[in-house]
Amino acid sequence: MKIAGKITGEALLVAREMIHEGVTTKEIDEKICRYIKKNGAKPTFLGYGGFPGSACISINDEVIHGIPSHNKMLKNGDIVKIDVGAYWKGFTGDSAATFAVGEISEEAKKLIKATEESFYEGIKAIENTENPRLGDVGYAIQHYVEERGYSVVREFTGHGVGANLHEDPNVPNYGTKGRGVRIYPGMTLAIEPMVNAGTHRVRMLNDGWGVVTADGKLSAHYEHSVAITDNGVILLTKVD
Ligand code: MG
Ligand code: MG
Repeated sequence: MKIAGKITGEALLVAREMIHEGVTTKEIDEKICRYIKKNGAKPTFLGYGGFPGSACISINDEVIHGIPSHNKMLKNGDIVKIDVGAYWKGFTGDSAATFAVGEISEEAKKLIKATEESFYEGIKAIENTENPRLGDVGYAIQHYVEERGYSVVREFTGHGVGANLHEDPNVPNYGTKGRGVRIYPGMTLAIEPMVNAGTHRVRMLNDGWGVVTADGKLSAHYEHSVAITDNGVILLTKVD
């Protein structure tokens, strides 16, 4: 899991270096694919449920699952979410982040920052709660996000991650303290706040993959695969 996570995290850094106006999401996807293969791993997303890319690349109001395309070109002021996984010797990582293209609005900067910070609120909830449960994580993320006037997506959640990309349990970004599945040392989870500037509601694009905000406002995403241990939480996909 550590090695799969490291390759996943590095692939995300490789993608980050490519974020410039005029670059297409397909070019970023191809670079990610090459990087993962060069490291002896397989792009987990490629062909997963029929997904036609090595990464999900979603721009502005697109929340998740954006299909990389030669027709989608990054513009100054866009925010772009890149979600990637590398499968190595039977295990996978899963990680996502939101990046700025050139100069973005203050609104967008705040949304990205709050999304990233809400992830760490979730981690703190695991580390600082006696016998933590998934509801403690969901509560911490939701509370942090909603306090800032944003909303958390309900229809999609984090998840267990390991031999498969999506395993039990679901890890919602909302919840009630003290409720839900117990979190034990040895668990590996993908924790991934998806935060909308406006309504939490989303809708599906006609391509069968892309998920966009119902009101067309911005959305941000931040994800790491983490391992729960007796000595705290290890961020398996964090490399920078
Ligand atoms: Mg992901
Ligand atoms: Mg995930």
